Amino acid sequence: MNPNEENCIFCKIAKKEIPSEIINEDELFMTFVDIKPINKGHLLVIPKKHSRNISEMIDPELSKYLAFVKESAEQMKTSLGCDGYNIGMNNEPAAGQIIFHSHFHIIPRYKDDGLTSWPDKEYEEGELKKYAEKIRKK
Ligand code: AMP
Ligand code: ZN
Repeated sequence: MNPNEENCIFCKIAKKEIPSEIINEDELFMTFVDIKPINKGHLLVIPKKHSRNISEMIDPELSKYLAFVKESAEQMKTSLGCDGYNIGMNNEPAAGQIIFHSHFHIIPRYKDDGLTSWPDKEYEEGELKKYAEKIRKK
C-alpha cells in the first residue's frame, strides 16, 4: 500500500473502517457529511481510490467524478431547499488543504447567510495580459 494511504482518514472512511454519514456512493465515489460545516449540510465527495488531490487524478475517473459531485449537489439543494451552493477543492496547503485525499466540498448557500466572499484585487496596467500569457500553453 502507498504509505500515504496507510494513515489516510478518507481511505478509512471509503473502506468504512471509520464511520461517516454517507449520502451517496457507487463503486468509485462516496459523498458524506463534513463534520465541521461551513453551513449545515456541507458535504464532501471523495474518490474511493486514494489520490493526494486533483493533480494526481486521471481520466476516466476524473470525468466521472464531476458528474457524481453534481448529482450529490443537486440532491442536497432539492432536499435542503437552499438557494445555491459552492463546489470547491483545496489543492495543497497553500490553498487550505489539510486532508491529503482528493475531496470536493459542496457547501449549501442561503441568501444573506453572511458568508463573505474572497477579496477583489486589482491588476496594474497590462498585468492581466501578462498573467494570461504566463498561464497559456506554450
Ligand atoms: P480541506 O481543508 O479541504 O482538506 O478539508 C478537509 C475537510 O474534512 C474539513 O472541512 C473537515 O471538517 C473535514 N473532515 C475531517 N475529518 C472528517 C471526518 N472524519 N468526517 C467528515 N469530515 C471530516
Ligand atoms: Zn486516502
